Amino acid sequence: MWVIYVRFIDVLEKPYGYAFSNYETVETALNIGHIPAEYRKWFLPYCTCGSERITDTTIKHIRCCDPRCFVKTGFQLSKLFSKFGCIGMGDETCKTISEYGHNKLHISSYIDLLNLRWNTWPLGEAKYDEYRSAIEKIKSTKLSISEMINYMAIPMLGDKSQKLFGSFTELGQILDAIKSGGPDRFFSSNGVHDAMVAFYVAEFMPDIFSFSRIMNYQFKQVSDKKFPICISGDIYLETEQGIKAVTKDEYISICNDLTYTKDGTKLFDIVLNKAVQSTSVLVSMPGFMSNQVTAVKKRQDYIISKRITESGSSTPDDLEPRPEEKLLYTPMEFIEYLNACWENNDKEDCVEH
Ligand SMILES: [Zn+2]
Repeated sequence: MWVIYVRFIDVLEKPYGYAFSNYETVETALNIGHIPAEYRKWFLPYCTCGSERITDTTIKHIRCCDPRCFVKTGFQLSKLFSKFGCIGMGDETCKTISEYGHNKLHISSYIDLLNLRWNTWPLGEAKYDEYRSAIEKIKSTKLSISEMINYMAIPMLGDKSQKLFGSFTELGQILDAIKSGGPDRFFSSNGVHDAMVAFYVAEFMPDIFSFSRIMNYQFKQVSDKKFPICISGDIYLETEQGIKAVTKDEYISICNDLTYTKDGTKLFDIVLNKAVQSTSVLVSMPGFMSNQVTAVKKRQDYIISKRITESGSSTPDDLEPRPEEKLLYTPMEFIEYLNACWENNDKEDCVEH
């Protein structure tokens, strides 16, 4: 349903609206003195979209109370395009599309903005061509359910998408899981205890279904086995068009394409891990230094020094990590590692790394 503007009181009534229980409207904060009167002109009570703006008690976090505010969904759309690696669909373009969609087309879901035709297009012909290519790129991207939901740029969700949706192969299973144990259990049993995450997932659940429908997605298989890897710093890969920056999500997706057996069975899922302590593989560009790289390098050095102590042999070759000892990979080395597993037909052992 298209709404013109949103009142905070109605947001509190939504599922998991209590996530905003320590928020109040800017208007209230001004009236009761949480924001001193002399600062009034710096704190606008209403968003461009007409909805009430809200603030938490620290006055640091001020936002429009409408989770579907067209200003916010403009950025959300731009983030979605960028996650898919689309070109030319940045913040300014998406803000124009989103505003037009709201004011002229009365669209309430940013996902419906991915279905515009020439006769409902607010920008010129060249932009329309870029838009169509972007949509084609999104349609032709092979994704698992959790990847698709991650790419939708739902606020607060990010890599929690893997935790919540990593085990599903059909969208209907998500609804079954929520129905069978209730939404609270769905979130808590998957390790998500943040009401704010639950609020946005509940809000954008219909969009998840319409996105999949508009893009006509056939989901990639997922495996029960997870192979967590850490990525430190930016990633560049050599492509036919030269050296190209890829996002962490794109890199994970490239790696996941290498985890199928010849008969098409998915053996394991490579997932992004942020906790460097619990990772057995860290991918970073050659020579890149970070605390994460140092921590993993120390572990790798320790494993090598243990072997050297035990064997008593320390030729220059002995100082190099053995394949089973290697924890630090460049992006290309890790791709080669997955390819080698494939060729040796022991992909199943890869995950035990
Ligand atoms: Zn707004």
